[in-house]
Amino acid sequence: MTLRLLSVTSELHPLIKTGGLADVAGALPLALAAHEVEVRSLLPAYPQVQRALAGVRLRPVHSYKALFGGPARVLAGQHKGHDLLLLDSPSLFGARDGGPYADLAGQDWSDNWRRFAALSAVAADVAAGAIKGWSADVVHAHDWQAALTAAYVRHGRRPELPVVVTIHNLAFQGRFDATAFPELGLPQSAFAVDGVEYYGGVGFLKAGLQYADAVTTVSPSYADEIRTPEGGMGLDGLLRARGDAVLGIVNGIDTREWDPSTDLALASPYSHRALGGRTANRRALEKRFGLKRGRGPIFAVISRLTWQKGIDLILDSIDHLVGLGGRLVVLGSGDGAMENALLGAATRHPGLIGVVTGYDEPLAHLMQAGADAILIPSRFEPCGLTQLYGLRYGTVPVAARTGGLTDTIIDANDAALNAGCATGLLHQPGSGDALRQAITRAINLYAAPAIWQAIRRQGMRADWGWERSSARYAALYTDLVARAATR
Ligand code: ADP
Repeated sequence: MTLRLLSVTSELHPLIKTGGLADVAGALPLALAAHEVEVRSLLPAYPQVQRALAGVRLRPVHSYKALFGGPARVLAGQHKGHDLLLLDSPSLFGARDGGPYADLAGQDWSDNWRRFAALSAVAADVAAGAIKGWSADVVHAHDWQAALTAAYVRHGRRPELPVVVTIHNLAFQGRFDATAFPELGLPQSAFAVDGVEYYGGVGFLKAGLQYADAVTTVSPSYADEIRTPEGGMGLDGLLRARGDAVLGIVNGIDTREWDPSTDLALASPYSHRALGGRTANRRALEKRFGLKRGRGPIFAVISRLTWQKGIDLILDSIDHLVGLGGRLVVLGSGDGAMENALLGAATRHPGLIGVVTGYDEPLAHLMQAGADAILIPSRFEPCGLTQLYGLRYGTVPVAARTGGLTDTIIDANDAALNAGCATGLLHQPGSGDALRQAITRAINLYAAPAIWQAIRRQGMRADWGWERSSARYAALYTDLVARAATR
């Protein structure tokens, strides 16, 4: 039997993306088709999304006279295999100078609670059958922006409908003042410890974790970490209390979009059988970043520039890396002080360090194809996708031993080298010394070409497509639907 799933998300690649959430919301629905799960994806009709869909026929399928302060419509359309539902609300998601969550200065939009409560309320309506001829068998809400869907479902017309909430990053919780509560349109009883109340305010993610039938996160190790006081960011107690309802399913990647043998962003295609094409990409990368030629490895960083990602640790390790003959290319955006410090390092080490600030998808692809190693010294990492792209493109990950990085990289220790299964290098998280040691280790391994090529090829052969993980999600949905039927 085909299951009808409503996926609720604030980002979906290739329409709008700030991070890995978009990649998952863009790839998982397509992979689920093989498991007889028919997905409709609901997301806000931000101006960026409307622009990306110019020329696509969008039909109004539902309307609201007043949705959290203004008129709104749900538009339906098809795009690149996605069955889209767009929440078109000019007052909430119309043109603004900035991104989906924050203004150009990085300040969160002050009405975010209203914007994403609206998305969640509409999701519950749609799932329950607001659109003629369609209702959901199961709902999948991603991150705090969609998590309140679980509360609206429980207090709505079809409270029995199974809801899965996925945590892509527990650091973003959607916490707001208690004054928001009366406007959410939930019953007063929901403002309670076992509802949306969170430390005296309103917690969107907290509510989702409380009301969801299942809570997933994006790797088994992260699922363990968030149940501890160190990794739980205030929610570990609730996550422990949810017991078996919490599980980790590692993310996959879109192997058609990220395929070095067909990628149009590359200077030259290649595969693990024919690595020769990598040289042209390396040259293109050197040119693009103004690097001098060198014998040592090129390390790459493609990242949000934040404390979580350990960018400060990289800054403290640059002289060490350069001193050992390494070079570094960075693509990132985020913290202004980190951006400036990286640009300063590039000035101090001309021809050895190149920095591009901003967001540039094709450049990210070229970097994965032309660099030798990708640095990911995250303090915590729910899953991480850059290491998976690195593995597929033969850019060996040098990463912190945390969360999904632990679950997806096999450290090149002696046992793994002897067994021929090493795919990267892992180091203790949160330590500049440990990162520098890992950089030294990578540079030494790189100097032994046969070993380095073996690590590179082993990583490239690993299969990080969505097949396994989408099957797990499909099994979870099926199980929840079966359980709901017996309630
Ligand atoms: P997170 O979601 O925490 O930012 P992930 O590793 O899960 O980290 O996903 C990051 C995604 O964003 C990857 O697809 C990566 O290639 C991409 N990315 C990050 N920064 C940039 C950038 N400045 N330009 C292009 N792509 C970027």
